[in-house]
Amino acid sequence: MQDERVDVIVVGAGPAGAAAALELARAGLEVVVIERGAYPGSKNVMGGIIYRQPTEQLIPEFWNEAPLERAMIEQRFMMLTETDSIGGVFRTEQFAQEPHNAYTVMRGDWDQWFAGKAEEEGAFVIPQMVVGDLIWRDGRIDGVNTGGDEGDLHADVVVIADGANSLLAQKAGLHDGWSPKDQALISKELIRLSREQINERFNVRDGVGVAMEIFGQSTAGLLGYGFIYTNDETISIGTGAMLQDLIDSGLNTNDILNDFKAHPSIAPLIEGGETIEYTAHLIPEGGWKTLPTLYADGALLVGDAAGLVNPLNREGSNFAMISGKLAAQTIIEAKEAGDFSAAQLSRYRELLSDSFVLKDLHKIRNLTDFAHQRPHLFNEVPELLTNVAREYLTVDSVPKKDKQKKMMNMILSQMPPRRALDDAINGLRAFFG
Ligand SMILES: Cc1cc2nc3c(=O)[nH]c(=O)nc-3n(C[C@H](O)[C@H](O)[C@H](O)COP(=O)(O)OP(=O)(O)OC[C@H]3O[C@@H](n4cnc5c(N)ncnc54)[C@H](O)[C@@H]3O)c2cc1C
Repeated sequence: MQDERVDVIVVGAGPAGAAAALELARAGLEVVVIERGAYPGSKNVMGGIIYRQPTEQLIPEFWNEAPLERAMIEQRFMMLTETDSIGGVFRTEQFAQEPHNAYTVMRGDWDQWFAGKAEEEGAFVIPQMVVGDLIWRDGRIDGVNTGGDEGDLHADVVVIADGANSLLAQKAGLHDGWSPKDQALISKELIRLSREQINERFNVRDGVGVAMEIFGQSTAGLLGYGFIYTNDETISIGTGAMLQDLIDSGLNTNDILNDFKAHPSIAPLIEGGETIEYTAHLIPEGGWKTLPTLYADGALLVGDAAGLVNPLNREGSNFAMISGKLAAQTIIEAKEAGDFSAAQLSRYRELLSDSFVLKDLHKIRNLTDFAHQRPHLFNEVPELLTNVAREYLTVDSVPKKDKQKKMMNMILSQMPPRRALDDAINGLRAFFG
């Protein structure tokens, strides 16, 4: 590869890198994608839900050919105490109709297929190759090194799409690495069950499924949530919390996941299933407050490498794909202008600012701090709500008036009005931005 030169090098064949490569190749640019895994997706971890509308911006009607598991038609929210649970459900048959809203996918299958679409457009994907460093020339990034003298490849622009723990973003001087308080660590298992078992246990039929987000004891009371997503013949189950909180509490996500799986409200859903995969991964969750510089002379930062994740709505893959698409648009304009300077590439930030990606990150910029400052939301509130529900539903010959009085006393003693008001006002502010 020594002294070879292409228009663009993309490092990482996840959703961000593959989306950038697809759009660039489509526009006729010479693109090389370097992926360290044996194949795209082989090293990747996700719940994982892919959203139809942003994906369709890259590949119209992709659902006719992509490797999808189930279309999501039901969203369940739950809170857990040590033994009990309380929650709500939204289900719509509209999401069962094409075009669907979202699908579960296996990242190994999805990434391979998606990178394959970039290859069909003319991108050249090289698996099993690690980019160890950036090449600098006259103060600008001019390519990558994949090891040894033979490992240099040059390009007008390097798209840094190497994921959550982006060493290349740090080498490019775009950020110093995320602090443990700005990252979540998630453990996840893939559990095999038959299609019929999944349909029966989750009250669905072939082809459609359920997403569950679960708070409280699912994370040992730490800020974060557990999740369960139904695939065709497997269940994705995982949980995680902010890395700094895990360090401070001495808890580890593996133990938290085991406790979550053993919870009486969760265990029946996965009973008899065989764990066929265990993974753990970081998610950058600093959002707006830790947003790095997204461009340099000869380089752009996309997806998780740029910290583009909305943890509130478990949106990361769509931010990654759209950022890859907008990075490609920026490079296409730069190519027309014959200018790959940081000033020209700053157009990427403008495009991202106009899109939902930065608008959403800005909107929820205070949400993590809000939740982090209120640990009672993950401990006392689930306890209170289940206690009140149990009291209400227990038929014990106590007159309803006395029961209601008792419930009100429970609420007032565990949730003083001043604190409830503070939570409500600040919660609304943090949520509505
Ligand atoms: C447990 C979990 C559940 C999640 N669930 C969801 C979900 O349900 N929905 C959702 O939208 N998002 C979800 N996310 C977030 C989502 O997975 C990410 O936001 C998304 O994968 C980011 O895409 P990316 O392309 O930026 O990075 P990645 O998908 O991490 O891809 C980076 C790629 O770069 C490669 N790479 C890294 N370093 C190098 C190197 N030096 N040289 C060559 N290649 C390199 C990696 O092998 C990898 O293929 C979840 C994340 C986790 C951890």
